Amino acid sequence: MAPTDFSKSHDLIVVGAGAAGLAAAARARELGLSTLLLEAKDRIGGRCFTDTSSLGLPWDQGAHWMHQARSNPLVAAAQRLGHTWLEQPRKVRHWLTTESRWATKEEETDIGLYIAACYQAIEAAGRERQDSSVAQVLPPHPRWRPYAEGWLQALNGCEVEQISVHDYSRYREDDANWPLDRGYGTLLAALHRRTQAMLNTRVTCIDWSGSEISVDTSRGSFRSRFLIAALPTPVLARPHLFAPELPKEKQWAALALPLGRHEKLALRFDETVLPDEKHWYFHRVHSRRAALNGICRPFGRPMILLHLGGSLLSDWGINSAAQALDPALDFLEEMLDRPLRTQLAGWRATDWAGDPLIGGSYSSALPGAAGAREELAAPLADRLFFAGEACSIPAYGTVHGAHLSGLAAAEQVHRASLKLKAQA
Ligand SMILES: Cc1cc2nc3c(=O)[nH]c(=O)nc-3n(C[C@H](O)[C@H](O)[C@H](O)COP(=O)(O)OP(=O)(O)OC[C@H]3O[C@@H](n4cnc5c(N)ncnc54)[C@H](O)[C@@H]3O)c2cc1C
Repeated sequence: MAPTDFSKSHDLIVVGAGAAGLAAAARARELGLSTLLLEAKDRIGGRCFTDTSSLGLPWDQGAHWMHQARSNPLVAAAQRLGHTWLEQPRKVRHWLTTESRWATKEEETDIGLYIAACYQAIEAAGRERQDSSVAQVLPPHPRWRPYAEGWLQALNGCEVEQISVHDYSRYREDDANWPLDRGYGTLLAALHRRTQAMLNTRVTCIDWSGSEISVDTSRGSFRSRFLIAALPTPVLARPHLFAPELPKEKQWAALALPLGRHEKLALRFDETVLPDEKHWYFHRVHSRRAALNGICRPFGRPMILLHLGGSLLSDWGINSAAQALDPALDFLEEMLDRPLRTQLAGWRATDWAGDPLIGGSYSSALPGAAGAREELAAPLADRLFFAGEACSIPAYGTVHGAHLSGLAAAEQVHRASLKLKAQA
């Protein structure tokens, strides 16, 4: 492949080298468009990033599961590139915090039935004319409702009062969520090992007032005929990134699709201290809404990966995953019934919400705003195009949803460029 031309004028500039921007740039180049891909970070991948250095073992700081695996195009990519994954359904054990014990078999069944009833209620409400929040439609339950609220928050990142059922019910759930042994970020990086990007290049202003788009960056200005903004919604919603500002409907769409809160705490232990069983899942059940779940010995590695959803951070009186270390160790020592502190070899916490280039985990539509995804994805003036997980309807909040939205945006640009040529 010829090296990318970093000179000043291009057919297309793609901003953001996450899954969406990478797919868009790669496809646009295949279609013959000269394309410059700009990324503010010193790496590609965005929210799909496998950390291989901080703990000496791979773990995904962001995306972990190939969701909708039966139709996810990245599964075929993983196969082609020789990346392996686990296919067995997620077997989850529930720790009843207030009673300091594991749920019995009967309680596990009861929890499963109630969660299934919650999904049915969401699906039914999704067919109603009037949108509502997930909190409004969950069936009551004397024991498990706060747990279900926490679980749904862990999945969506947002408080259940802030999630539109219309939006949620359009997500295509297929119960096939497969984690990759070497990590999702490793797969994405391998898939795009030849997709050239200009790193450490922060876009500060996109001027789309003229027939050519002018892009100011921390490393100079570039021009192009078309632009794809493959950026997280909090970045899109920030004032002054576009000149002129994006139309009101587009600003509304970005604000109506906020990113939730989902952080991770990765703990590495001495080889011998954890139970031998590989890759098993646990959920913390509390009488209050508290979204905490985790994986013990992922792929057999001496680690515990904790996933912290929005409300857990307040439940423990903390506001970052790093501050969760102490209460998390207390909780794990009780749950696993063994001392762990002294065997802790290293730990690392994420802060996606505090990252100014991201601003949270993944998008969720506010109640009443399910239409925001179509609005966000719509091109402007046949020159400005949009991609990213928030633009996907059936696979929002996922890597492959972002990937597919990037491919779609590249195709849109190609059609617009053919139209322009035909008019010339
Ligand atoms: C904790 C967590 C767990 C997750 N788990 C899963 C999972 O298991 N499975 C799954 O499929 N998905 C999961 N996701 C969601 C998934 O990671 C995202 O949906 C997907 O990676 C988003 O890709 P994107 O290209 O839309 O955006 P991003 O990956 O956010 O890419 C946007 C890029 O734009 C760059 N950027 C921002 N501002 C500028 C600027 N001004 N100039 C230049 N560049 C800029 C950013 O640095 C970033 O690289 C998870 C996410 C998180 C945070």
